[in-house]
Amino acid sequence: MHAVELIERKRNGEEIPAADLREFIAAYVRDEIPEYQAAAFLMAVWFRGLTPAETYALTDAMVASGERVDLAARLGRRVVDKHSTGGVGDKITIAVGPVVAACGVPFGKMSGRGLGHTGGTLDKLESIPGFRVELTTDELVEQTREIGIAVAGQTADLVPADKKLYALRDVTATIDQVSLIAASIMSKKIAAGASAVVLDVKVGEGAFMRTVEDARELAREMRALGEQAGMDVVCVLTDMNQPLGHAVGNAIEVREAWETVSGGGPPDCRELVVDAASQLLALSDLGVDEAEGRRRAEAALDDGSALAAYDRWVRAQGGDPDPGRLPVAPVVRTVPAPASGYVRELGAREVAITAMELGAGREVAGEPIDHAVGVVCLAKRGDTVERGDPLAEIHARDEDGAAAAEAELLGAYEIGDEPEPRPLVLDVIR
Ligand code: URA
Repeated sequence: MHAVELIERKRNGEEIPAADLREFIAAYVRDEIPEYQAAAFLMAVWFRGLTPAETYALTDAMVASGERVDLAARLGRRVVDKHSTGGVGDKITIAVGPVVAACGVPFGKMSGRGLGHTGGTLDKLESIPGFRVELTTDELVEQTREIGIAVAGQTADLVPADKKLYALRDVTATIDQVSLIAASIMSKKIAAGASAVVLDVKVGEGAFMRTVEDARELAREMRALGEQAGMDVVCVLTDMNQPLGHAVGNAIEVREAWETVSGGGPPDCRELVVDAASQLLALSDLGVDEAEGRRRAEAALDDGSALAAYDRWVRAQGGDPDPGRLPVAPVVRTVPAPASGYVRELGAREVAITAMELGAGREVAGEPIDHAVGVVCLAKRGDTVERGDPLAEIHARDEDGAAAAEAELLGAYEIGDEPEPRPLVLDVIR
């Protein structure tokens, strides 16, 4: 395999043999292929796409670049996982895990940090005082066995090819290519060893996939990759034109996840938690269908067993589950509605950028984040507001930051005379 030739063939739209792709990826991970050749390859893929056989070979090569955890075999149970392609205010994993664990199904997963404007579950969990996200593989397996739930950061050995490729895609404008996204997500799911995964594919202005058609294509590609690896995959396409729930930040999102696990929380959070949990229970070894899964998930939220599982989980990872111990921002500013009417739009991307500029997210990988700050969108799409009513809350480190955020956040809201109802769940692809 000659790198230049492989790039040229992809550039010309030819299909690359699986063995060559494998060799290319393996050599790249060993630093034997320079970044400029890998970048040229990614750009050729962005323009020409990948065939299903190429996508599978790429995914397989990425999985083979590192350690593979056989979680299900080590536990002797079917293990389920839930993943989101990246949203704004998406704290669903933090609430789904305890629900599934409370229903007796092992939930062991590796999560990521924020990507671009989207927040990451690990960053959110780290706002819990004492919470340890760095577990060894053995600790992850043992905790899942004993407590029923463990969520850890990816070990350095898991899909190192994705770490390198993702960083390169990030700076070469090649993130938004469906097959590259599918290979990136599924390589990590396959290497982490769950038996089944529910993928929440976010669609809209605040997501990588802007249209339902693109999201369906991504879902189909991820399902096909899962199937070839012997993993059951269900994709739920959900709206990401406005943030999920009210809170966008870290500690404030954990608080909202805790409220949801306690049987309350915003209705859209509960809806997605129950939806994902019922799919996961139906994919588990409990032998129940989705309707029974839904009944059990709702019961776990309402009878306190999901909250008890949350407490056990957080304590097992060294954290304090009391939401009163979460960090709080020194300045909380209420943003009044500039007009009366219906909230017609609440731009997820603008809210995310406001939260990021307050310090809740990173502009550059590796930067520290401020766990206490963020935005609480009190009014959401479809709500009516009177001029001067509280529209949102800004949780900031100082007054200057709050003032800048207020101006920015007002740009995310569009208030008009007519509501524009839109569904949350757009499609389910099994
Ligand atoms: N999430 C990932 O893990 N990879 C991508 O490429 C996009 C979203």
